[in-house]
Amino acid sequence: MARVLKAKYFKNSSFMDAKLGSNPSFVWRSILWGRQIIHKGSRWRIGNGEQVYVYKSNWIPRPENLKPLSIQTLHPNSVKEDVISQNFSEEDAARIKRIILPSSPQLDQLIWHFDKHGNYSIKSGYQLSLRLKSPDLASSSDLSKTHWKIIWSMEIPEKIKIFMWRAAQNMLSTAYNLWRRKAIKEPMCGRCSKEKEDGFHALIGCKYANKVWKLTDFHQNMKMLAQQDLLSTLQEMGKIASRKDMELIIATCWSIWSSKNLFIFKGKEEDAQISVGRAAAVVESYRRIKIPATQTVSQNQSNNQQTWLPPPNGWYKVNVDAAIRPSNQTAGLGVVIRDSRAKVVAAAVQNTIYKGDVECMEAEAINFGIQVAQSTNFLPMIIESNSKGVVDLACNRKGSITEIFWKIATIQDSLKRLGRVQIQHVPRSFNRIAHGLAKKALEYVSSAVWLGNYPDEILLLLTIDS
Ligand SMILES: [Zn+2]
Repeated sequence: MARVLKAKYFKNSSFMDAKLGSNPSFVWRSILWGRQIIHKGSRWRIGNGEQVYVYKSNWIPRPENLKPLSIQTLHPNSVKEDVISQNFSEEDAARIKRIILPSSPQLDQLIWHFDKHGNYSIKSGYQLSLRLKSPDLASSSDLSKTHWKIIWSMEIPEKIKIFMWRAAQNMLSTAYNLWRRKAIKEPMCGRCSKEKEDGFHALIGCKYANKVWKLTDFHQNMKMLAQQDLLSTLQEMGKIASRKDMELIIATCWSIWSSKNLFIFKGKEEDAQISVGRAAAVVESYRRIKIPATQTVSQNQSNNQQTWLPPPNGWYKVNVDAAIRPSNQTAGLGVVIRDSRAKVVAAAVQNTIYKGDVECMEAEAINFGIQVAQSTNFLPMIIESNSKGVVDLACNRKGSITEIFWKIATIQDSLKRLGRVQIQHVPRSFNRIAHGLAKKALEYVSSAVWLGNYPDEILLLLTIDS
């Protein structure tokens, strides 16, 4: 079954390639969530449609249920826009018409639907497994969804969350688990040799774990609440400890586990004080990284210029923006081109079908801007967009394999072809003319480009910044 799935569904799929080929932890991920989860959460990005079964495959982008809801009326494998409305339910048809297709046919590709950029991640796979109420998950864990939400939202590194999740699922390689799988001969704790080593013993019950807890503020409560199994002990702790304390408690569990492994694999007995220090350091440094990051951003913004600035001599600046009107599935694109003396040399609007999501339309606005500047010969140019996500994608600072990829590929082709083109992100307040034009574009029927002789309503918008 697994081989069939792989051959049938995961061939040519970059996220599966990456995980299967190069990521050793894929095996346990598979055990954790099963291929079923991956199968349920992946969706085809349509390239030419050849690999996609119209009524059976996952290919409709929507929050849940990625297969068409419609009953089969269409001959398989023939999706054309004019037959969509006749052959699909209204809900399906609306979604299908919004799917962005490549400008020329490409291979279909499976992507992970529950990630913004189409890439599989442990967290998102886990979250999906919760939503699907996977039966093995429900039977092996007493933790309610809200408990897990709390753990996932904690300010601790991902690796510790995953450790905790595995511990709660009884998936740690404790002596007892290894013994049950016949990997070792004895279920006894390799450190104290007094009891069988399950998760509770390794992290709380063992005298070596206890040495660590004794040095923390949680020792008394831990002693009082110890329940003989790990999950209920932590649940009880969770009732009385603050969120920050729980973060430290979980990090301490992780640190005890690391120190146990150090003993088992390297024969080193770590000082308990070091284990305590490691937990505190990991939580502390994580908080420090998280908090200043946001402060730096706002500082930078306040230090930098406050308004739009003209481009250097000989360059043109192309500001672009998109506006969406979901009620009738339309989007407006706005473009304004100014020279180094801040004089408007061109303005353009386009009314288009709203496809993909807002970011896709922001990417489309960049493409429209490039087109206008190229056709009017205002080169070289600096393009400014207030969508940071799209600018990051266009500049290859991030990658995405969802449908926005087609739009980004077109932008990058133009960049290569035209040479002297730069793209940068600006705050919304620097992009007011383009924004005004994009909103105005919603009232237009198709597109319009002006090189002067601006209509009054456009002229009004062009003077916002001056
Ligand atoms: Zn022990």
